Order: sequence, then C-alpha cells, then structure tokens
Amino acid sequence: MQQTEMIKKAKEIIDVFNPGVQFNIMEVCGSHTMAISKFGLRQILPKNIRLISGPGCPVCVTAQNEIDSIIELSNKNVVIATFGDLIRVPGSKSSLQQQRAAGKEIKVFYSPLDALKYAEENPTKEVVFLGIGFETTIPTVAVTIKEAKKKNIKNYSVYCLHKTMPEALRVLLEEGSKVQGFLLPGHVSAITGSKIYEFIPKEFGVGGVISGFEAMDILMSIIMLLKNYKNSSIEIQYKRVVREEGNVKAQKIIEEIFEPCDSTWRGLGKIKGSGLKMKDKYKDFDAAVKFDIKPIGEEFEIKGCRCGDVLKGSIYPNECPLFGNVCTPENPVGPCMVSSEGSCAAFYKYGA
Ligand code: SF4
Repeated sequence: MQQTEMIKKAKEIIDVFNPGVQFNIMEVCGSHTMAISKFGLRQILPKNIRLISGPGCPVCVTAQNEIDSIIELSNKNVVIATFGDLIRVPGSKSSLQQQRAAGKEIKVFYSPLDALKYAEENPTKEVVFLGIGFETTIPTVAVTIKEAKKKNIKNYSVYCLHKTMPEALRVLLEEGSKVQGFLLPGHVSAITGSKIYEFIPKEFGVGGVISGFEAMDILMSIIMLLKNYKNSSIEIQYKRVVREEGNVKAQKIIEEIFEPCDSTWRGLGKIKGSGLKMKDKYKDFDAAVKFDIKPIGEEFEIKGCRCGDVLKGSIYPNECPLFGNVCTPENPVGPCMVSSEGSCAAFYKYGA
C-alpha cells in the first residue's frame, strides 16, 4: 500500500475510535514534533484530537542560566566540544557562535567519542564536552568518561547538564497539564525500557505509547492511545527497537558513572532528581569541578520568548507574538527556534 493510502486508512480508523471529546496527545520527543510537522499529521486529525509538544528537545529544555554558564566556561581557555545545535542558542550576553567569532575555540562534534579522540590527539588543550541530552545520549558520554579514566587522558572533561525524562513528565502531570495521552520517545525508551513510565497510568490515569518516527508509526500510536484511553496503560508501538527492559548494558554504564541530582528545566523550573552528576570516583573528569562552573543565578526566560510555555504544551509556537517576525531561524530569540528538534523551528519550516 502507498503511504498516502495507508494514511487515509489510518485516518478512517482514528475516526472510528474518536472519543468525541477534547483529546490532547503530547508528543514528548522533539524528533516526533519534527516528524508530525513534516508529514502534516496535525492537519489530518479530527479537530478534537490535538497534538501538543512536550519537553523533549534537549537543547530547548536547557535552562537559560545553564546556557550562560556554558558561555562563561568558553572564556576559560578551554576548547568547547559540542553538538551543533547548541552553537546558536542565545545566552544573555553572547552565544557560542559569537564566542567563536571572538576567537574562542568552539568545536562541533557528531559524537562525544570524536571529542575524546580530539583531546587525546591534542594533549596541550583542555577539551570540555558539553553533556546536553537525555538517556539517548548519556551512555556514549559515559563511555568517554570511562575511556578517559582508563587511558589517563587528563585534558578531557564533561560539563554535565544531562536530564532524565520521567521526572519532567511527573511534574507536568502534577501541575495539571491537560494531557489525555503521551506519545513517548522512541530513542530514550530504547535505553530505559518502558517501565519508567508505569507511574503515568497508575498515578494519573493517563496512557502512553512508545512510538517510532515514521508517519505510520505515529498514526498507529495515536490509534493505540485512542483505543485504550479508558483503560490507560503504557504500550510499545516501536517494537522493532524498544524492549520492555530497555538496553541493560547502557543502563549499567550510566549507573556506573553518574548519579541523580536536581536539575533546572526551561519552563519547568527545578525538578528533583531529574539531572545527572558524575560520581566522586570520576570527579577529575567533571568540568563543573575542574573549572568551578555552575549555572549562573536563577533560571529566567529571555524577554518576550515563550519557549517555556511551548515546552509545557500550553501554547502552540505560532501563538508566541515573536514567532515568524522577530524570531526566525536566521535570527532566533529562543532555543525552540534554533534546535533541529525545536517546536518553533518545526512550525516555521513546515507551517503551522
Ligand atoms: Fe521563543 Fe521564538 Fe519560539 Fe517565541 S517563536 S517561543 S521567541 S523561540
């Protein structure tokens, strides 16, 4: 069957299971947001079934005071090693892109392993990898720390701003978010497994489906949510990648290197146990300790930017007054317009 035929068929099934009441589905993951916009899935759903974005874009949820501390770190005669998306995120006074233009060493790597290799090949330079991201990214960062210790690479460290997903979903639900179902992140869940979400139906009576990223994956997941919404549970649609128990080997290496700590999220504030810090055994590789760096002051919003509300699913990006006029991908005001997984960028690229 052609994709358009399959989408038509899925639409018919969605109509059959339409509960007939307002049904908000939060797509937690930034990659889902992009896929939904790219395939135009919002437009084919009945009006009462709404897809709203959640806090699943790692760059977007990095708090503004964390971004400012990264800029400060780049002034400390180090090489900042980072994924590309972060370069253009505006800090209060500068961005990494502007820091680079001012002569600071900011290098983009596709993998933390490449950053470690760069450190090994350049022993006179202090290389700091920016640990931003969820459970998907964390195991590879953990591997670099383990390797650096094993090989005694003393000029490599990680500024750990990693966040973990379940605690943020709990806060959203406790704050009374009007979500009737979650499209849960496929890549994160490949590492964590599905059990970490069990509190969602048990404590809040809301269901969730771990979804893949193709149009049909997402539509199938929506159908599963609608079919099961009176008897909420956590289901796996993305079975070709996600197992109930997750990737146990990856979980073990995370546990070996990191321990939970509180973390501040853009839009959601400080969330207990939602971040990771390095265990004492690895503190020589902790850039926060090595360079005495920490988020600067209290979390705050960039003036006029409503990324916090977008990340909580309270508004659609085009409801931000700056969307598309003051704030564009060429001149982003907030991270949701910068990141390749940001909701504002998705709405701008593919239309609202
Ligand atoms: Fe922030 Fe720009 Fe999105 Fe508005 S459109 S919420 S200013 S990133």
